Amino acid sequence: MSSETFEFQAEITQLMSLIINTVYSNKEIFLRELISNASDALDKIRYKALSDKSLLDSEPNLFIRITPHKDQKVLEIRDSGIGMTKAELINNLGTIAKSGTKSFMEALSAGADVSMIGQFGVGFYSLFLVADRVQVISKSNDDDQYIWESNAGGSFTITKDETNEKIGRGTILRLFMKSDQLEYLEEKTIKDVVKKHSEFVSYPIELMVTKEVEKEVKKEEKNDEEPKEDKKEEDSDKPKIEEIEDEDNKTEEKTEKIKEVVEELEVLNKTKPLWTRPPSEVTQEEYNAFYKSISNDWEEPLAVKHFSVEGQLEFKAILFVPKRAPYDLFESKKKNNNIKLYVRRVFITDEATELIPSWLSFVKGVVDSEDLPLNLSREVLQQNKILKVIKKNIVKKLLETFQELAEDEEQYKTFYTNFSKSLKLGIHEDTQNRETLAKLLRYQSSKSNGELTSLTDYVTGMKEHQKNIYYLTGESIKAIKTSPFLPALNAKGFEVLYLDDPIDEYAISQLKEFDGKKLVDITKDFELEETEEEKKAKEEEAKKLEPLTARLKEILGEKIEKVDVSETLGDSPAAIRTAQFGWSANMERIMKAQSFNDDSMASYMSAKKIFVINPKSPIIKELATKISNGEGESKTVLDLTKLLFDTAMLTSGFSLEEPSSFAGRINRLISLGLGVDSDEAAESAPVEEVEEVPAEDNEMEEVD
Ligand code: ADP
Ligand code: MG
Repeated sequence: MSSETFEFQAEITQLMSLIINTVYSNKEIFLRELISNASDALDKIRYKALSDKSLLDSEPNLFIRITPHKDQKVLEIRDSGIGMTKAELINNLGTIAKSGTKSFMEALSAGADVSMIGQFGVGFYSLFLVADRVQVISKSNDDDQYIWESNAGGSFTITKDETNEKIGRGTILRLFMKSDQLEYLEEKTIKDVVKKHSEFVSYPIELMVTKEVEKEVKKEEKNDEEPKEDKKEEDSDKPKIEEIEDEDNKTEEKTEKIKEVVEELEVLNKTKPLWTRPPSEVTQEEYNAFYKSISNDWEEPLAVKHFSVEGQLEFKAILFVPKRAPYDLFESKKKNNNIKLYVRRVFITDEATELIPSWLSFVKGVVDSEDLPLNLSREVLQQNKILKVIKKNIVKKLLETFQELAEDEEQYKTFYTNFSKSLKLGIHEDTQNRETLAKLLRYQSSKSNGELTSLTDYVTGMKEHQKNIYYLTGESIKAIKTSPFLPALNAKGFEVLYLDDPIDEYAISQLKEFDGKKLVDITKDFELEETEEEKKAKEEEAKKLEPLTARLKEILGEKIEKVDVSETLGDSPAAIRTAQFGWSANMERIMKAQSFNDDSMASYMSAKKIFVINPKSPIIKELATKISNGEGESKTVLDLTKLLFDTAMLTSGFSLEEPSSFAGRINRLISLGLGVDSDEAAESAPVEEVEEVPAEDNEMEEVD
């Protein structure tokens, strides 16, 4: 029989060499990974067989079997799962690139634990923690039996199997153990590891154990010859013979007991599904172990919800909230395999995306329905009413769980750090639960001293005459804190929420209201609660400054919608507000960052700008004086206005369209400050050649 050689995909070679050389001590997890693959393979054939029973004929029993061969230093892990065809062996075990390979290596170099490997979809290669060579012998219903073999080098071989015992269906992994990893051939070690990591696998995990059994044989027979016929061929050990010391009864002297070594299968796990037991009888340790077995997670879950629904529709479920967000939480093309769907204890699929909304895709668990048909096809899944009801219940229970988590500050912090984006997505997507989800949001605010506060607390702390909930969006908390729009609200004692996550603006604009209060973005044009006097004073101020505002509008032209006067900008001479509808500065930044290239959309939505000037600012006062002195047309006024506008853009969170002309104006100012002749300076550094400052780098702190 001839072998074919194939190159591993380059990153996989890298991964294997990393694994085989690691000094990582917790190597036992390889067994969990291989058992989990076996269990997946069994799930697949069981599911396929639901619509065609004959698929099981090749091997009716569904099992996982571990056989240590100490003499050969080989550990075998067999399953009677779906098996792999030749093509599948080639593709699944080494030639097709997986996004997880690279992500896992990156995670490792960032200090992640090797035991996380399963989460990255490359658990198979963990076998190289303990073995330096492996044969995968596999038999699919659709192909002959093949051997895939690798020693973690750059290539692997495939050979049609004409030497090994024929497996009806399934896969045997034959691990050639490293000489310092022989402990994994010991029964006790295997039992401990299976108990620890794989107890809740829903197929029997059998261990081939050797046992000494006592046997009675007739004494005469024994005396004559060795009892060869009683021994199995494999048993090389001689039976140990021992005389029976029976003082009471001398009549039985004709028989004696011999000890014999036999092999037998011992089942190591409890396969009774955990969710069928009453929650009161399940311990936290059992939940943790179960979670790890279904999730590939190496950590314990943050929360668990075990419940059953009865009545018109019946199902049981155990749902887990992990401690950490997975690396691919928002990867849109990944398949959702976090909730396993069972029907009357039979595993159906882990791809029923209809079971849980996508914003909850981080939740893991099992759902076991009494009502669904066993032969669930994709089409049936898609428009199944029962599934819809189950989904609704799952969401309800999870919202309950999150609320419970919120009762413990520490726990909620962990949860929120990892999954706040998911909650916000939920607000965006789930109209029905928007209000409940809004209660789970937490933000820093102008009054929270760096801690997180909730909308509920915000409302409780609102001033008597305050009508709205105010918020500010921006790239970072630091940037938000220096916003020229804050002082107005601070002066009134109104709290302002700081929204620094790009998704916040989407979520909040969907939410619109909380507890009957409007959510208002203070970078936009809005009516602040003002007394009659305040309004009047403002109008008078505006009137006085009319010549200035008119000239400013003239100079800035299309760049702005209008010029407004506001005394509430604190120390800032000016700021840019945007119209109530359309993008805010923050949204414009986000959209630009996403290279949102649809220009028509951009010009339609991009922020309509209102240039707000502060009449109290000496700069504005002086500018007004210059205008009333008839200097409105001078180059100084022109230059300063543009500079003022650009600076206001930056402090309000926008980026500049022409950073170089801004820089040119600044340089002229610097020359002025240094007493250098600005024309002379321009000779050595012409304005046009001023180095472009990338828009993103124009952070407001730098300009301040
Ligand atoms: P994952 O299990 O997350 O898909 P692995 O690296 O553990 O990633 O396994 C890679 C693939 O190899 C599996 O998706 C499966 O297609 C195949 N495979 C591994 N072990 C078995 C097995 N015992 N039986 C059938 N297929 C298997
Ligand atoms: Mg796996």
